[in-house]
Amino acid sequence: MSPYNIVTIDGDGIGPEVCRAAVRVLTEACGADRLRFIAHEGGATHYVRSGQVLPPDTFEACRSAHAILHGAAGLPGVTYADGTEVGNDLHLQLRFKLDLYANVRPIRLVRGVKSTLADWQPGQIDYVIIRENTEGLYASRGAGVNLRSEVVTDTLVMTRKGIERVARFAFQLARKRSGAPRDQRRRVTVCDKANILRSYAFFRAVCTEVAERFPDVDIDYAYADAITVHMLKRPDFYDVIVAENMFGDILSDLGAGTIGGLGMAPSAELGDERGLFQGAHGSAPDIAGLDAASPLATILSGAMMLQWLGDQQGDAALSDAASRIERAVESVLAAGEVVPADQGGRARCSEVTEAVCRQLS
Ligand code: ATP
Repeated sequence: MSPYNIVTIDGDGIGPEVCRAAVRVLTEACGADRLRFIAHEGGATHYVRSGQVLPPDTFEACRSAHAILHGAAGLPGVTYADGTEVGNDLHLQLRFKLDLYANVRPIRLVRGVKSTLADWQPGQIDYVIIRENTEGLYASRGAGVNLRSEVVTDTLVMTRKGIERVARFAFQLARKRSGAPRDQRRRVTVCDKANILRSYAFFRAVCTEVAERFPDVDIDYAYADAITVHMLKRPDFYDVIVAENMFGDILSDLGAGTIGGLGMAPSAELGDERGLFQGAHGSAPDIAGLDAASPLATILSGAMMLQWLGDQQGDAALSDAASRIERAVESVLAAGEVVPADQGGRARCSEVTEAVCRQLS
């Protein structure tokens, strides 16, 4: 059986170290000959060197690979003339060009991690945020209007097709899950500001239409401001949350804060045929190169990659490897001997990686 081609893009800041960690763990879990990792350049550092944030050969490799694994991209000082960061263009371009419309961000509290929310235990916080990834406010990136440095606009974009497909994705996901921890009800919460803007009212209306095809899944609505309180006070109520691009971006960082922080939050960006996998965090330049980052978000994103690839390819061995990685991460954390710095411990990035590999073997 020929190996699956996985393009890796290290990127910037902590990107190289966490990407390396995930490759090490994925190889341990699948064996040396199941996955062929093909390294490509991209990101802010590469832009400084070459003027290209996503070189054509990197894009071509991503387009033809079985999956893409990415560390993180972006450096605060590397900006375009309009002040926006160059590095983000790496994954933004990949999202738009490869049509990766569903950004899947699981929020799950695991054993060994203490939630910042008092009294919540593993098993009680377990939901998934589906962030629409190709429309919304971020769709107009690079196309906003700055009029004489006096008036500036960016446009929020919504299409029926874009909302329908991400809503369908959210309901289909809810069908595969076992419901919210609180009441085991399968539930999709539509997050918007339908009370304020026409675009969000349209988002809500189209999600409601899609819901009619899923009578076995409850539909629930929340305004984006109110849900930030609900996510802290009753996180067990949530099963799947679907949100516009920018709201999903913000909510997933808030959710990550309740399950141990950004170093624990994986992410998968999926289209109908392609997938990009990276931790939900950015390049964290403050701790780059110190071997201090937690690799767990990227390792867990790697597990999501195996699960997705296993489903796509009908390869049960990959799905099995994904589950083993998740269990290994949880066992390491539960044992409490190797604790990453962002969880209050002293373990280096490399030590956490080795501990997960030991657990796997
Ligand atoms: P972006 O907008 O690109 O997502 P950001 O500005 O939100 O990035 P991050 O790079 O995600 O910022 O990081 C915010 C802070 O969280 C970092 O400065 C770092 O201290 C912490 N952090 C992020 N990722 C990790 C990680 N993997 N391990 C430990 N700490 C992390």
